Amino acid sequence: MPSSDFTVYPHFWRATRLFPEKEIVSRGGDGQGTHRYTYEAFGERVHALANALSELGVERGSRVGTFGWNHHRHFEAYFAVPLMGAQLHTTNVLLPDDHVEYILNDAGDDVLFVDPGEPFRTIERLWDRLDTIDGIVVMGEERPETALPCVSVYDAVLEEHDEAFPWPQLPGDHPAGMCYTSGTTGRPKGVEYTHEMIYAHSLMAIAPVTFDVDESDVVMPVVPMFHVNGWELPYAASVTGAKQVYPGPSPEPADLARLIEEEAVTFTAGVPTVWINLLEHLERADADLSSLERILTGGSAVPESVMRRYDEEYDVTIEHAWGMTETMSVGSYSRPKSHMRSASAEERYAIRQKQGLLSPGLVMKVTDDDGSEVPWDGESFGELYVRGPTVVDEYYNQPEANEEDFEDGWLKTGDVVTVDEDGYIEIVDRAKDVIKSGGEWISSIELENELMKHDSVVEAVVVGVSNDRWQERPLACVVRRSDADVDAEELRDFLGRTYPRWWLPDEVVFVDEVPKTATGKFDKKVVRDRYEDAELR
Ligand code: ADP
Repeated sequence: MPSSDFTVYPHFWRATRLFPEKEIVSRGGDGQGTHRYTYEAFGERVHALANALSELGVERGSRVGTFGWNHHRHFEAYFAVPLMGAQLHTTNVLLPDDHVEYILNDAGDDVLFVDPGEPFRTIERLWDRLDTIDGIVVMGEERPETALPCVSVYDAVLEEHDEAFPWPQLPGDHPAGMCYTSGTTGRPKGVEYTHEMIYAHSLMAIAPVTFDVDESDVVMPVVPMFHVNGWELPYAASVTGAKQVYPGPSPEPADLARLIEEEAVTFTAGVPTVWINLLEHLERADADLSSLERILTGGSAVPESVMRRYDEEYDVTIEHAWGMTETMSVGSYSRPKSHMRSASAEERYAIRQKQGLLSPGLVMKVTDDDGSEVPWDGESFGELYVRGPTVVDEYYNQPEANEEDFEDGWLKTGDVVTVDEDGYIEIVDRAKDVIKSGGEWISSIELENELMKHDSVVEAVVVGVSNDRWQERPLACVVRRSDADVDAEELRDFLGRTYPRWWLPDEVVFVDEVPKTATGKFDKKVVRDRYEDAELR
């Protein structure tokens, strides 16, 4: 047994030895019902899985991919793979085929865990284009009909093993995880997480200044386990011994509402779209959310109206955080400081809507185009740089991006932010999305947030469209409420109450849906391409 320090092992030990009777619940897909077992039983299966993987040829230094949703088998892989000294690489099942092909070949996975159903069919379709995988383990009970070679079934291979696995002693800098960025601004790029990074992030994430979860919580990670390791919540929750609830393949709002009610979930996490969709569902269906205390959201900015509705209608606090694949999820967290307790509701919403205070263990600087640090006055913009033990210092296999995105040990986040006198970061835009009009900057995010405050607007995305005179001008793409007939002029007037005339979008187009990336973010690349030739007024 390793006695060693900065690895995933002490987290596994703590979960299984100190909280053996706590539950892990997982919603099955395809009519498989709910799976329920204890941390103790989970621990036994983690040993069995390591033995099974060993038999499949996985060893220290191997890379094991996963291609599936949030459930107990995936959760077992989260521990078995790094504990045996192999590296767990999670891939997003919602990506287009060519991204999946690129990511799996770039990472060079040796063995791949795949969910049955759609994810398995994707791998089957791509099989001839995948260069390195020589074993597929279907995360289910039954073998799918397939002509693919080297397919085994997860539960069957586990059944053959009940012996304890001799965990190797690993150094803290041994690779444990790997994730790819979601590719919002270019091709997905791989980052590697070491054991000590996961160790440190888990402890940082459970602190009262961040997730603030403990053993009494019931934690439901809705953010997919293929997205920044489910924001690392599976590891963090395990350290605390909290009951965990995994919502299974493609959860719908009704599934989430049911799980919250039946399992008495207290803390959950996912991108804003998930919580907007849940609100819409709750308008039509009854559900008891009384157990739910907090929702952690991030990945993109959360509209203030959503925070208010959860507060007022459900007594649920939305907590806003910022992070990147490169920062192992939680880079900052927005909670008002104690001196803000007496602030008005409006002021507190304004603070909570910001991306917040940098997480403990990290440092930051915000610089302008000349590299000078901008003042913390809540108004001056600059690019956010961060560094710390949970921030990567390079991409995998990307010498060019490494030159561009890292500088003297700092990660250049590509996020343009302001910092107020209290140190709260607010993202004004992504460096690649900020609209440059006549030499001045217009924040696309601010315009989007303001538009989404209008009663008739469900979603809004704003992009820069090239313009001969001004270089770029803003164009807004808006989804109206189904019963609303608001027009472009009215929305421009609405924005004009807060922003100067030159900020107002030259064009407002109404659409049925805003294109989104596989992680639920507005896909501004698609919107920009669609309107690049728009003739603006
Ligand atoms: P990609 O960079 O390809 O989108 P990530 O999933 O790593 O991949 O996304 C990180 C980016 O998401 C951040 O740099 C930031 O622009 C955006 N982001 C994350 N959290 C927030 C948030 N709370 N508010 C606004 N933007 C956010």
